[in-house]
Amino acid sequence: MFSQIYREFGISDKILELSNYVEDRARSKFDYYDNIANYNQLKVLKAMQENKVDTGCFNQTTGYGYNDYGRDTLENVYADVFEAESALVRVQIVSGTHALYLAMSGILDAGDELLSPAGAPYDTLEAVIGIRKTRGSLIEKGVKYKQIELLENDEFDYEKIKNSINSNTKMATIQRSKGYTTRKSFTIDQIKELIKFIKSINPNVICMVDNCYGEFVDIVEPTQVGADLVVGSLIKNPGGGLAASGGYIVGKKDCIERIADRLTAPGLGKEVGASLGQNPLLYQGLFNSPIVTVSAVKGAIFLSGMFEKLGFFCEPGFDAARSDIIQAITLNSEDRLINFCQGIQSAAPVDSYVTPVAEDMPGYDAKVIMAAGTFIQGASIELSADAPLKEPYNVFFQGGLSYPHAKVGAMLAIQRLLDKGLINL
Ligand SMILES: *Cc1c(COP(=O)(O)O)cnc(C)c1O
Repeated sequence: MFSQIYREFGISDKILELSNYVEDRARSKFDYYDNIANYNQLKVLKAMQENKVDTGCFNQTTGYGYNDYGRDTLENVYADVFEAESALVRVQIVSGTHALYLAMSGILDAGDELLSPAGAPYDTLEAVIGIRKTRGSLIEKGVKYKQIELLENDEFDYEKIKNSINSNTKMATIQRSKGYTTRKSFTIDQIKELIKFIKSINPNVICMVDNCYGEFVDIVEPTQVGADLVVGSLIKNPGGGLAASGGYIVGKKDCIERIADRLTAPGLGKEVGASLGQNPLLYQGLFNSPIVTVSAVKGAIFLSGMFEKLGFFCEPGFDAARSDIIQAITLNSEDRLINFCQGIQSAAPVDSYVTPVAEDMPGYDAKVIMAAGTFIQGASIELSADAPLKEPYNVFFQGGLSYPHAKVGAMLAIQRLLDKGLINL
């Protein structure tokens, strides 16, 4: 019965056999992540109960959004889930980059220093900070920026970090996920150690963690290990695939209030911003997120198991610890990379008949190919893959609202490579 339905998707018995083999070896890893989902599900449930979420929270507000009780309650739920003093969870935050920009620009004034103690930040932040000369960037407004590269083995360069911190260092930005690089994503323990070190040099440095793709992959979040601010996107993990748009920032109350003033206006802060009928999706998405996130992690484990067996380098490796939902694979050829993405697209519930091609993208130095047949446009908690067309042809695979979907996506990508004679099995 099983091989029949896979055959209908064009998947050969050989690939089904390999996938059974990999799944058997992945059982204990899947159990481990199922336990994490179990814990986080209860954590979210408890926060919703303690904040007395009720059907009134789902009422729509428009206009200014004064007394938007559903919005305010959702922010209290987020604060409790992240064990933070306060939260800003808004559909008016348009993306992860916007949330990170709000957090930085809400905190940093001219003359303040921003430190990136762990190498280059995510591509879009180059414009935000002004690493790439950009109108309105933080650097243009007088903020100073220092970046300390990672050592080999992706270790923090504590000596250089120490020497770079002074009394003007106002904020440190730490990116949990690897982004479009092949460094390892940082674990919660690594983030904890780094924040502790920074605070030991200057306790006033506000430590912010870019938590994109990291939420609910572990049982603790960065706010629980010393981060003053934690930031992410609702069309990634915490929106659970249901949030249509939005971002969140959780952390210290005084920081969140300053950032809310930046989002709306001084004097208005958190008091305004209508939720525009999105609250039901934001609540239900958060509720679903622990299971959805772990489904994506299991899909990433499966994919790495398959590709390691085929002889490709995977980061993280099949047996490695994970701190986000991203799986990078080094494909070593443009043909493989394009066909991999086309295979992923063919597994989509939406736009499955579309053929993705590589295109120039603002902010990238190479053409980029993206596979994403998603319900929410650009939502990368849904099954997706993307890659810049450059050596060594790394592809970044993430998402999957259910494990069976992530799994069939991986199988179709491999089937396509096999059909084109680009791999041997
Ligand atoms: C996705 C992502 C961002 C930016 O989010 P957008 O919503 O695409 O603007 C920032 N940092 C990391 C690590 C990300 O994965």
